[in-house]
Amino acid sequence: MQKAYKFRIYPNKKQIQQINKTFGCSRFVYNYFLDKRIKIYEENKETLSYGKCSSILTILKQEKEWLKEVDKFALQNSLKDLDRAYQKFFKEKTGFPKFKSKHNNRQSYRTNYTNNNIEINENKIKLPKLGWVKFAKSREVEGKILNVTISKNPSGKYFASFCCEVEIVQLPTSDNKIGLDLGIKDFVISSNGDKIDNPKHLIKSEQKLKNLQRSLSRKKKGSKNRNKVRIKLAKQHEKISNQRLDFLHKLSTKLISENQVIYLEDLKVKNMQQNERLAKNIADASWSKFRNILEYKAKWYGREVKILDRWFPSSKTCSCCGFKNEKLTLDIREWTCENCGENHDRDINAAVNILQQGLKLA
Ligand SMILES: [Zn+2]
Repeated sequence: MQKAYKFRIYPNKKQIQQINKTFGCSRFVYNYFLDKRIKIYEENKETLSYGKCSSILTILKQEKEWLKEVDKFALQNSLKDLDRAYQKFFKEKTGFPKFKSKHNNRQSYRTNYTNNNIEINENKIKLPKLGWVKFAKSREVEGKILNVTISKNPSGKYFASFCCEVEIVQLPTSDNKIGLDLGIKDFVISSNGDKIDNPKHLIKSEQKLKNLQRSLSRKKKGSKNRNKVRIKLAKQHEKISNQRLDFLHKLSTKLISENQVIYLEDLKVKNMQQNERLAKNIADASWSKFRNILEYKAKWYGREVKILDRWFPSSKTCSCCGFKNEKLTLDIREWTCENCGENHDRDINAAVNILQQGLKLA
């Protein structure tokens, strides 16, 4: 199975020059061989194979020495991409390959892994012909690196996308089943009685984001200072989304490895019970992302995620005796059942009900 990881990279001036040069050379190779293939076909109805192109490229590099200054894999991959575009045109009758323009919105090249030419340490990536490039490592890269695509977006940011091969080993079957209640204060509350809060660094980052937003609203429109804050704000947004994703990955991996079946309430149903608008919107995005990650990881590892799509009063029902506490309002965090006398933590009780409801439906 292949996994992709994308990181923002922060190349220095010299590295930027080298990256841009590689974009240029890759594009040159692509266009040069597209032109050559068209002409050869027009002249003698022959198709130039990838292998042929590759040997012509070796000769071309003797003539045009500047091609030797960039990553050789990038040039090879240009030829492969061109070949793939041709294959696609023949097989799927899609459009004929187009020449690449310098003014394209997204510039990129792809390099391959071989003999430790690509390495990752704390906050730097080693890339062929570039050396160590600073990057924002938001999560661990798992598996064997196959290739890395270096790209630049229209606003001038640089990225490295890793394509890795991971071996997925099905987990041995477990007897554990768990119900999860998703919350705002605590992100996940489980029927085992565990409460998992958003990590501290994420909360801190979100506080910083709020401060930046406030600061932006006070700056004069069009001023230099406002622009500075705007950039900081964009960076902070990016940091938070990386941190959140990392948190969701770690949590989902843990839950999937520990449980055979995970029961969740349908989010649409869940939303009817919430009232804090802003918090809800933030949580909402994380909840659906979380559910999505849980579901695909369950498939990978032979686990199950089951969604309870019918509404039932998971918070109001006593998980011991089934009594329905109509007096329970949103602000009450703990309550005692009038009927059986059991003390309940509001959210844990809900999670236990989700598990019980799930088991009933199974
Ligand atoms: Zn009770």
